[in-house]
Amino acid sequence: MIIGIDLGTTNSLACVYRNGKAELIPNGLGGYLTPSVVSLDESGEVLVGAVARERLVSNPADTAASFKRFMGSKKTFPLRQREFTPQELSAFVLRQLKQDAERYLGGEVTEAVISVPAYFNNNQRAATLEAGRIAGLHVERLVNEPSAAALASSMLSDEDEQSYLVFDFGGGTLDVSVVDCFQNIIEIVAVSGDNHLGGNDFDERIAAFFCKSHQMDLDALPPQKQAVLRRLSEKAKRELSEKESTFLHMNIDGEDKAVILNNEILIGCCTDLFDRMERAVVHALRDSGCTVDDIDVIVMAGGSCKMPVVAYFLEKLFGKKPVMIGSPDEVVAQGAGIYAGIKARDEEIRDVLLTDICPFTLGVGSYNPNDRGRNIMTPVIERNSVLPVAKTEYFTNVHDKQKEIEFPIYQGESFDCSENLCLGRIAIAIGQAMAGEARVSVTFSYDINGILVVDVVDDKGTNRAQQVFMSEGANLTEEEMRQKIEELKKYRISSNGDERDRLLLARGKRIYQELIGSDRENVAAALREFEAVLAVNNRRAIHVMRQRLAELFGVYEEFLNEEFLNEEFLNEEFLNEGFMDKEFLDKEFLDKEF
Ligand code: ADP
Ligand code: MG
Repeated sequence: MIIGIDLGTTNSLACVYRNGKAELIPNGLGGYLTPSVVSLDESGEVLVGAVARERLVSNPADTAASFKRFMGSKKTFPLRQREFTPQELSAFVLRQLKQDAERYLGGEVTEAVISVPAYFNNNQRAATLEAGRIAGLHVERLVNEPSAAALASSMLSDEDEQSYLVFDFGGGTLDVSVVDCFQNIIEIVAVSGDNHLGGNDFDERIAAFFCKSHQMDLDALPPQKQAVLRRLSEKAKRELSEKESTFLHMNIDGEDKAVILNNEILIGCCTDLFDRMERAVVHALRDSGCTVDDIDVIVMAGGSCKMPVVAYFLEKLFGKKPVMIGSPDEVVAQGAGIYAGIKARDEEIRDVLLTDICPFTLGVGSYNPNDRGRNIMTPVIERNSVLPVAKTEYFTNVHDKQKEIEFPIYQGESFDCSENLCLGRIAIAIGQAMAGEARVSVTFSYDINGILVVDVVDDKGTNRAQQVFMSEGANLTEEEMRQKIEELKKYRISSNGDERDRLLLARGKRIYQELIGSDRENVAAALREFEAVLAVNNRRAIHVMRQRLAELFGVYEEFLNEEFLNEEFLNEEFLNEGFMDKEFLDKEFLDKEF
């Protein structure tokens, strides 16, 4: 069976195409979103999802999150004395989704279509393929997230011909793309975005606002306090999607500290983030040759589009309301599921054709006569070329008696190669030609998964070199890959009991850490009692305890956030006016009712 997977920075989802529609696959807790968080417990078992997310606060040293931001890089994450690569951690998430899907579908899942941000470069794509392999999934295809969102949206529309702008705003990345749909042909016309802009940045700004309001330094807080503050900041941000104002409270060194937040303050803390969002939109429009008026539908994807300030920002920019299809954080997964359906040749959607584009320029670094030390970029495949694509350029040698020509391969938009990403090098022997005598063709083939093959041939056809360009990790040999899969099998997915119970325990332990005194003892006693009931596996008692614990924890969470709140805290002086630079605020934006 084949499934579609949205492997997100913050949350991951799986989707299957059956009975003529895309169907999201619930995880062990019955929800669709599985947080992309991995934690190792005391026995060396792997915890993935909501349970692991609770442990970000209670066991930060054994827990990793946001690793997608480092896919394809050399960064590793230490968890219990072992360093894990981002692709290994992603593989744990994929393995969990695969397992949940198998349970839900009642059969083995062997293949997947996985979505990646359009701006992912070659290394990042190759690392994603590697993660799939480690998880025991044959990755049929990588799709760009906005392409998936566009596909899901177009399926719901009756219009024959439309231009979409997909604004996919997740936890850590922003992708903006312009997509044309004509009958059954969906064409991605341009993509742009910001690889380091997402909902996390809003959380970070709220946390910074809190700290600044109390003359504290966020980075100077102990890691655990930082984690609690970030979690509370995210919670406050979500509350602002539902109501006009909220407050963020935290006990720091025995002192209650709080700030009031509303959407006005949020905008004030984040003006530069809005500027970056605007820049990404303008860039995508410019590359597509479209104006704001050419766009028929603005599709919001990603959880951060739930923020009213984001919807309002888009409306202001385009002069029309953006649309939301279902829940924005599910759109990409829906699209990936439809792709999986196309792959499985599901009759109903077989005739949907899809083209995609290469989101960045690929080229060769060539000799710079004015500065011998620095190569200049000679583009071979231009950004936004339709995939798959193959292009050939011809080169010659610059020195007499040169025996070999070496081509460094780059990806990026900069004239100066040093500012682009070097994917590797390929060399070809050319005998002992005099300067300008040799003629060598360099052919770049870029496939639908975004994997580059470079083929270099001299004009006599006697010498030839060919190479696939992927990240180092993805160039693992079969044997190395087999060893890695074996090694990671040691880290079993925790299957000890019901996931709801594991989540309750993890949540209790996190709350325990935040409390003190008798409240703390209450929680400890409840946890002990629950563990005892779980140990003897008394179904009825477990059921009763679950409800009791959920209620108790709910009360304590409220308490942690609100109990201390009294008139004094609601006082005006509480708002640190100085931090907000009102100059920046657009009056019209502020007057809007959210
Ligand atoms: P990703 O694609 O990065 O995995 P998602 O699309 O799941 O992420 O979006 C996650 C982001 O959406 C997080 O930053 C989260 O705080 C934010 N988010 C989710 N729900 C809401 C909400 N109701 N209001 C505001 N932000 C939200
Ligand atoms: Mg996403």
